[in-house]
Amino acid sequence: MIEVEHLVKYYGGNCAVDDVNFSVAQGEIVGLLGPNGAGKSTIMNILTGYLSSSAGRVSVAGLNVLDDPLEVKHRVGYLPEQPPLYLDMTVEEYLIFVYNLKGCTFNRTKHLAEICEVVKIQDVYHRLIRNLSKGYRQRVGIAEALIGNPPVVIFDEPTVGLDPKQIIEIRNLIRTLGKDHTVILSTHILQEVQAVCDRIIILNKGRIVADERTENINRAVESTRRYRLRVCGPQRDVAALLRSRPDVTYVETLPERDDDAYCYLLESKTGVDVRKSLFFALAERGWAIIGLEPMGVSLEDVFLAVVESEEKDARTAKKQRRRGGAGVGAEKDLAQSILDETAKKQEAVAPYDGKD
Ligand code: ADP
Ligand code: MG
Repeated sequence: MIEVEHLVKYYGGNCAVDDVNFSVAQGEIVGLLGPNGAGKSTIMNILTGYLSSSAGRVSVAGLNVLDDPLEVKHRVGYLPEQPPLYLDMTVEEYLIFVYNLKGCTFNRTKHLAEICEVVKIQDVYHRLIRNLSKGYRQRVGIAEALIGNPPVVIFDEPTVGLDPKQIIEIRNLIRTLGKDHTVILSTHILQEVQAVCDRIIILNKGRIVADERTENINRAVESTRRYRLRVCGPQRDVAALLRSRPDVTYVETLPERDDDAYCYLLESKTGVDVRKSLFFALAERGWAIIGLEPMGVSLEDVFLAVVESEEKDARTAKKQRRRGGAGVGAEKDLAQSILDETAKKQEAVAPYDGKD
């Protein structure tokens, strides 16, 4: 449905998008994830024909964005980072205005009523946009994108500035839309892509550093064996015992303490369940386990590790250490495998010769 090949965008001398390649299949929900300034909005503006690229080729539904900008706009519904709403119009007036602007031929009343039902704005339909909350304005922006029933919808940071309840509602809405639309959304919130998207593309400084199906990332993340352990016993001795075990690959003492119990983060060798042997080893010394929870690696750890491996940014590494993630072991391995796979995919795209 969407093909992006060797996309490059310069703003003056500043390269905002640097040789980006990806394609999105029909019906897929893809999340563009990345820190601020990574190039997400720039890519979306190019996909929707609002910005020209410096080089590369972008097509939507088989149409080249440069050659057929109008046709492409008919097929793409776009919610920009700042939806351009006319505050002095009512929701109804505004949607009718957009309907006319898009040259829609559906039955207007029926079409707008359907959209309002999907995005749940019936109760504010006759209100001035100026008086709507941020959440409702965002929905009006989404309604606008859906007018004309475009097969592709692109949402730039759709949940930014919303409260938790509104965020969940918008996420559910996006999931519903994913049933019969191809969706690309950008966010810098990790749980968002994890909750909504089939696939995650991580951008950093204009380059794709990871492109992976969410389920693969989740599976990899779940399969790592990391535990938070609480043990009653002298901290140094317990830590030493844990470190001496061949099935434990990493031990960190955590700052939490509760009476004579200390907290540790540990990682076991892959494929080994250390829990039973740990229980007996500690019990033998008279140290009681009062807590043992599997922690897994969060997507956030992977994201930080991906970005960190890419740029060896000292600050990121520090932040990661502070969070207790330590940046060692599981998430590093996982990040590296994602980086390697992605680099292979990016390299596999044939060079673009400027012709279609
Ligand atoms: P994101 O949406 O991921 O936060 P953007 O696409 O907005 O990233 O920005 C990518 C880079 O391009 C940033 O370094 C930003 O400063 C720069 N940039 C974005 N828009 C413009 C513009 N209109 N003129 C000059 N530089 C820009
Ligand atoms: Mg942006």
